[in-house]
Amino acid sequence: MTGKVIIVGAGPGPADLLTLRASTALRAAEVVLHDDLVTAEVLALAVQSARTLNVGKRCGTRSTTQDHINALMIWHARRGKVVVRLKSGDPAVFGRLGEELEALRRAGVPFEIIPGVTASSAAAASVGITLTDRNSASALLVVTAHNVRGEKLRASGFDPQRTSFAVYMPGPDYGSTARDLMESGVDANTPCVLVSHAGRASEQKCFMALYDLPFALGVAAPAILLVGEVARRVPEHTHKDVSDLIPNVLSALESESEGVLRTKLRA
Ligand code: SAH
Repeated sequence: MTGKVIIVGAGPGPADLLTLRASTALRAAEVVLHDDLVTAEVLALAVQSARTLNVGKRCGTRSTTQDHINALMIWHARRGKVVVRLKSGDPAVFGRLGEELEALRRAGVPFEIIPGVTASSAAAASVGITLTDRNSASALLVVTAHNVRGEKLRASGFDPQRTSFAVYMPGPDYGSTARDLMESGVDANTPCVLVSHAGRASEQKCFMALYDLPFALGVAAPAILLVGEVARRVPEHTHKDVSDLIPNVLSALESESEGVLRTKLRA
């Protein structure tokens, strides 16, 4: 009997940012192969009898090779096990998903993918900003400052004034990340926010202009950088009159009961 592999997005850290489907899969897992960034509170959802293995690739230290991870998934699935391959955030974003899918397809092992909350979404939500905006950001570029070929972050064919960037793995050399963005045409004054431990109790955020990024020292990993007009810091509460934003609906709400309003809106 062949088991299967469920590739699960673990989200940014807190267990309640997992999807219901992800937590059900985790509870059903007999083998859990997880990345380094997956938190203890997420792993705690697996049953005690599950075999849990950290196959993470921690920066700068010896780590399990991709071939070894692929072999582990296939080996356990072929022994009839339900294997959960648990990846931080969303498995399809900088998660080496392509290599694992190819191995599973070649081996004829059935698999399923459960998406997760990616770091850029988690960071934008906790900081209280949008990633796209009808007026100022018509595109979102998801990029990394590190890639497998050691290439520089290079973005082209976009309008730097109307693009937001979600930069994964932006450190520890923030100077070179800032330089690469500027060389790609992003203005040095562009607002950005660096969010470390997004979504977790230990979260830290730092708003700045791109030219200040090289001085972002001592930021705890994992951290993500959001760049663009959307990342401009605005006061928490402006206490301004909002009637200019939604004049008709607001005045109707103030004067009518909800039932009457609903009838009016439908008409
Ligand atoms: N698949 C993951 C990304 C893995 S690459 C996702 O979708 O989020 C690892 C990088 O993701 C980290 O170096 C960091 O840039 C980012 N990251 C992951 N979790 C994070 C978190 N809780 N807060 C900030 N950045 C995070």
